[in-house]
Amino acid sequence: MLYPINEIFQTIQGEGLFTGAPAIFIRLQGCPVGCPWCDTQHTWELEPQNKVAVKQVINKGAAAPTWAELSAEQIVQALIDAGYTAKHIVLTGGEPAMYDLRPLGEALEAAGYRLQIETSGTFELLLTANTWVTVSPKLDMPGGYLVRPDCMQRADEIKHPVAMQKHIDALDNLLKRCPPKASTSISLQPISQRPRATELAIETCIARNWRLSVQLHKYLAIE
Ligand code: SF4
Repeated sequence: MLYPINEIFQTIQGEGLFTGAPAIFIRLQGCPVGCPWCDTQHTWELEPQNKVAVKQVINKGAAAPTWAELSAEQIVQALIDAGYTAKHIVLTGGEPAMYDLRPLGEALEAAGYRLQIETSGTFELLLTANTWVTVSPKLDMPGGYLVRPDCMQRADEIKHPVAMQKHIDALDNLLKRCPPKASTSISLQPISQRPRATELAIETCIARNWRLSVQLHKYLAIE
């Protein structure tokens, strides 16, 4: 099994329940969901002409549609060779759930890493049992993919981007249609740090006893 990797880098997790944790991000290439406000549009297409050598996706430092193909074992070795110290891995994208992530998860867990996936909830999740699942549900997006009830049930955390009341109403409808486990953490994340979105998210989190996720890395201007 080979994985198309856009980039691998080490930073601080800026979103959700693991905010503040040192983390290695493994960004997979490819996503058909089509969110208009997506800030990683360079990961959407898997163009053969953009395939590069492995070393060119390690600590890439700039958004680009280039990608390299690595096996699970090569990914583990790349983390060791890069000298990363974090033990928390974030599988992100793109949409990482487009791929069978079990061989990768098994190799990473055997090497002592803890895994988290950030997913839109629109693809079947093929993960190790211990992988922490963060679903950021993408509703009514141009790609036409539906958020899956099995993803919502598997979610350890639901992190929902909001700018307007209609986004909260949409989440309410989703939670009715696809109820998560009682233990699942729900957080609202203001879109693009807009003041009105932040105010709405704070008000709603307090009223519902949900959590606020503020994309700390954007406030800190780190990757
Ligand atoms: S699912 Fe994620 S990567 Fe895909 S378009 Fe939406 S925000 Fe972008």
